[in-house]
Amino acid sequence: TVRTRIAPSPTGDPHVGTAYIALFNQCFARQHGGQFILRIEDTDQLRSTPESEQAILDALKWLGLEWDEGPDVGGAYGPYRQSERQSEYSEYAEQLVASGHAFYCFRTPEELDAIREDRKNRGLNPGIKGDLELPEAEVKRRLGAGEPYVIRMKVPDEGVCEIEDMLRGTVTIDWAQVDAQILLKSDGMPTYHLANVVDDHRMGITHVIRGEEWINSAPKHQLLYRYFGWEMPVLCHMPLLRNEDGTKLSKRKNPTSIDLYERLGFMPEAVINFLGRMGWSMPDEREMFTLPEMEEAFDITRVSLGGPVFDRAKLRWLNGLWIRETLSDEAFMDRVSDWWLNREMLAPLVPHIKSRIEAFSDIAPMASFMFSGLLDLNPSDFEHKKLAEEDVKRILQFGLWRLEAERHWSRDTVFSDLKELAGAMGIKIGDFMFPIFVAIAGTPNSWSVVDSMALLGPDVSRARLRHALH
Ligand code: ATP
Ligand code: GLU
Repeated sequence: TVRTRIAPSPTGDPHVGTAYIALFNQCFARQHGGQFILRIEDTDQLRSTPESEQAILDALKWLGLEWDEGPDVGGAYGPYRQSERQSEYSEYAEQLVASGHAFYCFRTPEELDAIREDRKNRGLNPGIKGDLELPEAEVKRRLGAGEPYVIRMKVPDEGVCEIEDMLRGTVTIDWAQVDAQILLKSDGMPTYHLANVVDDHRMGITHVIRGEEWINSAPKHQLLYRYFGWEMPVLCHMPLLRNEDGTKLSKRKNPTSIDLYERLGFMPEAVINFLGRMGWSMPDEREMFTLPEMEEAFDITRVSLGGPVFDRAKLRWLNGLWIRETLSDEAFMDRVSDWWLNREMLAPLVPHIKSRIEAFSDIAPMASFMFSGLLDLNPSDFEHKKLAEEDVKRILQFGLWRLEAERHWSRDTVFSDLKELAGAMGIKIGDFMFPIFVAIAGTPNSWSVVDSMALLGPDVSRARLRHALH
């Protein structure tokens, strides 16, 4: 039976690209009566967090995606988190050393640089390959002496590798361009390539549907399957989502966090519909369709390779259509009150609002920025008697960078990040906060901007800072 998977790394906000790839995997599995699996690839222990994992699962569920096996629902092929399968990977790496397909490498970064340089001078591809293996006795001596090592796979020096891709046919890549990939790092952790291949095999994955960015990894994976003597899954590399200017979708140009769309009041049905139209269309070309309808009519050969553009205006238009055409008045009221205008969401605003108003009708103008998306701002809104235009730009840019790195979003962490930055930039905190206020609240005359940011959450806050910079 067909088994597909989505394999996110829990290293950041839930990405619309992850949902897009998950959607196509789910549709392919359903259409064939197979299973769709969710696996967490958290071998990068420094960057992976449980919060990010939870946020990714929540966001995919919010969109209505449903996996048959995964860390939250279990299944017969678990565990579904790579950090819980660690001992397996080193055994497989050792197995390849024993069969002569991989080797211990003791080279230091300086030695690797010298090798690269030497290869370049000899007119060879300057990648990491050749000149890395040591005589067996030397390997034994170094292992005995406890020297750190990595395990690398052997890769042919010349010739071409042919990859079969469902959408692209035969893709050829020169072996000269492929490095002797590290499989096991010196801390005993596997790299993506080893863990991914081992898991896909052990979990019985039949079709690997993933982003185009991984196509250059396919030769290494194909070689690993051959070294292990395992059957290789069918590969399908999907076109990447693009910004309106044709470049790869990036959060600098477009919000990529699924949470942001939830926060801005998009319907999950519309977002999934929109993602389903990225490089794909219904056989009858209709714009609006549900996830079950897409599963029913799915045909992967209808994916077109021209880069699909993540056009936010189109998404808004489609969401409007969903609101008008699918929600009864009753359903509309339920959705809106679930979204924001409920007691739970209002509670943290009460102390700010109550102390400032004289009649309830004062609330809307004062608090509208808490219920808005991106704000309409003019350059003149940022004029300040002590800050030059350049300072304003620097505050917004550095503030954004600092807050993009903040993993634990709260009033206190946001405040200490900004205070520290103001100190480092030598700007008085009161002046420093001015452009931040304007970017977030549209005016410097609001309640504490860090309270606003805590309530608005990281996605909306960062998106507004980014928007203010344009
Ligand atoms: P940045 O915005 O800093 O360039 P990124 O967009 O590459 O980062 P990652 O955190 O590397 O984001 O990717 C998160 C997930 O989203 C990965 O699984 C990746 O495959 C997927 N992804 C990222 N960009 C795209 C894209 N343009 N199209 C489809 N999937 C994408
Ligand atoms: N962990 C990889 C990612 O984050 C998985 C890539 C793959 O599907 O092979 O996208």
